[in-house]
Amino acid sequence: MGPAAEPRDGAPVDAPRCPRCARELAVLEVYSTRNRWGGGPPRLRQEQWWQCPAGDWLGYRHADGDPLRPVRRLAGAEGDCFFCGDEECNVAGVPWQQEDGSWHDWLVCLSCGTSNPRRLRFPPPPDGAPG
Ligand SMILES: [Zn+2]
Ligand SMILES: [Zn+2]
Repeated sequence: MGPAAEPRDGAPVDAPRCPRCARELAVLEVYSTRNRWGGGPPRLRQEQWWQCPAGDWLGYRHADGDPLRPVRRLAGAEGDCFFCGDEECNVAGVPWQQEDGSWHDWLVCLSCGTSNPRRLRFPPPPDGAPG
C-alpha cells in the first residue's frame, strides 16, 4: 500500500473521473444569483457540476453515482447570457428530439445559474452521437 491519501479540505471523496482523459474532475460551483435580491444570497444549483483540470470536459450529474452528463460551451452571441449579460458563459447539454421531430437542448449560464430549455432551429450534427 502506498502512503495514505490525505483528505483535502472541501474536496469530495468520490470525485468522478474525466470521461476523456481519466483525470479526477474538479468541482465547479454554479450559483443561482438571479431573483435572489430580495430574498437571500446566491444559492448553489441542485446539480453537481464538474470540470476537468485539463479543460477537455465539462458537465454535471444530479447526484452521487448518477451518470455524468456532458455540456458544451457556446461561443459567440449564443454563449452570451440573456439574463445577466456575461459573455460566453452559457453551456448547453446534449440535444434531444421530441415526438414532433423538433430538437431541444438545455441552456445553462455558469455565471448566474439561470437554466432554460430551448428549441433548436436546426438539428444537431450527427457526429459524436454514439449509436
Ligand atoms: Zn479530461
Ligand atoms: Zn447569466
